[in-house]
Amino acid sequence: MRSSLFLCSKGVQSRRKLLESVLLACFLFSPAALAHGAETAQLAIKVDQVGYPLNSPKVALVSAPATAFEVRRSSDDVVVFKGKLTAAKADPDTGDKVQAADFSALKQVGRYYLEVPGVGRSWNFAVAPDVFEHTYYMAMRGFYGQRCGTAVDMGPEFPGYSHPACHLHGEFSPTSGTKGLRDNIGGWHDAGDYGRYMVNSGITTGTLLWTWEIFGRKIKNISLHIPETGNGTPDILNEARWNLEWMLKMQDSDGGAWHKQTSEHFPAFIAPEDDKLPSEVIGTGAAPFKSSCATADLAVVGAIAARVYEPYDPAFAKQALEAARRAWAWTEKNPDVAFHNPPGITTGDYGSNSCQDERLWAAAELARTTGEAQYNDFFLKNYAQFLPSLDSPPGEDWKSTGSMGLWAYALSPRKDVDAKVVKTIRERTLAAARNVVERTRANPYHVSLKATDYVWGSNGVTAEYGMCLLIANLFQPDASFVDAARDDLHYLLGRNTFSLSWVTQVGEHPYQHPHHRPSGSGRQPGPWPGLLSGGPNKDREDAVLAALPKDTPPARIYADQLASYASNEICINWQASLVFLLAGELP
Ligand SMILES: [Zn+2]
Repeated sequence: MRSSLFLCSKGVQSRRKLLESVLLACFLFSPAALAHGAETAQLAIKVDQVGYPLNSPKVALVSAPATAFEVRRSSDDVVVFKGKLTAAKADPDTGDKVQAADFSALKQVGRYYLEVPGVGRSWNFAVAPDVFEHTYYMAMRGFYGQRCGTAVDMGPEFPGYSHPACHLHGEFSPTSGTKGLRDNIGGWHDAGDYGRYMVNSGITTGTLLWTWEIFGRKIKNISLHIPETGNGTPDILNEARWNLEWMLKMQDSDGGAWHKQTSEHFPAFIAPEDDKLPSEVIGTGAAPFKSSCATADLAVVGAIAARVYEPYDPAFAKQALEAARRAWAWTEKNPDVAFHNPPGITTGDYGSNSCQDERLWAAAELARTTGEAQYNDFFLKNYAQFLPSLDSPPGEDWKSTGSMGLWAYALSPRKDVDAKVVKTIRERTLAAARNVVERTRANPYHVSLKATDYVWGSNGVTAEYGMCLLIANLFQPDASFVDAARDDLHYLLGRNTFSLSWVTQVGEHPYQHPHHRPSGSGRQPGPWPGLLSGGPNKDREDAVLAALPKDTPPARIYADQLASYASNEICINWQASLVFLLAGELP
């Protein structure tokens, strides 16, 4: 079972103390200027504001009474398709009555909108074979915008979205068991705050490296326009390396990895270069100072990196593998050192009761990279207890990496894997995926989420469902898996109750006020681009959500407000799941 406090819900209490300054910062914003009139009518017509691949199912949703619809070409309003809406279906998760407009038969590249007589027109969207390529680009550039210890400039597409080098003063906190200054370049700001956390970095970087390993052919030639572009290494690996280098620096000489590097408390809502709090390497406060989950996560990403960087930089691949081996050895001696904030530290915990699932993932990746018996043996001795995580997807997040470990093993091309175990993992994944497909088809919004999934980071859960479906498709190709995963993407990009794109600066009606310090500093005219919002959260873990009417259905407990950290924060881990999903849906 996932706790409702997961993903970026890493420091609720300390965030509450910040609420006053956050609310003050809110007054700096003016409401988003919408490009079109007749907003109410448009919000009742929900389309993927990015669009639909040429040969895929194409469905828009309408939550106002109507009978027919037309698809019109945006450039000249010519009708290219006419159809009837399906009968209305009541959706308890939103309270909406939803009708579907199916225009799958439209197979002409172009830019279009829906006209629904009696309701109005929709946002514009595209139909094209590679319709999600630019969104993939934006989502990956979102990581670039989170780089720490360096100047960042989003370039001519987003003039003024830049900042000088940030957080240049690094030091070891007394809790780390070490003293002194430390160079502080590398890593991504984790979320709305400026901290860097090994555990969340692990699932994030691991997911991005998997994106490359699994979908490399689709994304190899997509330039991200980052400083390393053109160096001969694919850009997704260039961007992931920015964080990997920081993770490697978090390893102590004994092989263990410190848990996080943050200030002692969260800063105010200021631009990154204005945050002058020292960036401290924080340990457990007592020997052995490093934590088992952080160290196992380092072993995970080091083992994958050894494979994927080998063709581009063999020396770096070797360094990553050595780090992974030393990290693994440390967890053998220290399998259960939990992390809790030491006294005086109030940034996120990313704490976990057990690090066995991180160790399972590390063993699977190390076995896959090296073929050595010690890793294979550990996996085979421990995998069975994690099989149930496959049955109730999505089973993967920063706290629960058992599914990732099982899939890593089952995806290994090595001849020495246990074929019976691989078969079990595949079959349970496929059975779960079939259930998700059935549920997604039955859901009036065509989304995989159940009512209970609208927790902190529910948009991340949506992307994780998509990831599970695409992994199942690797085990046994099935168009229904890919279609359902794409339905989850459509939900995130505008086909939802709010008719809102949950990626900043993507689509005609994206959300505007992420809980994200660079966006909240007021230095730029809008939010930083390419960032996925946390999404609706039935558990109402902030004052904004708590103030919504008591009878609000779960999928509507969301506020596009900076102060709503429990529904509108950005975070690198769900950003990575979005990238995986986008890459998987490219041609
Ligand atoms: Zn920084």
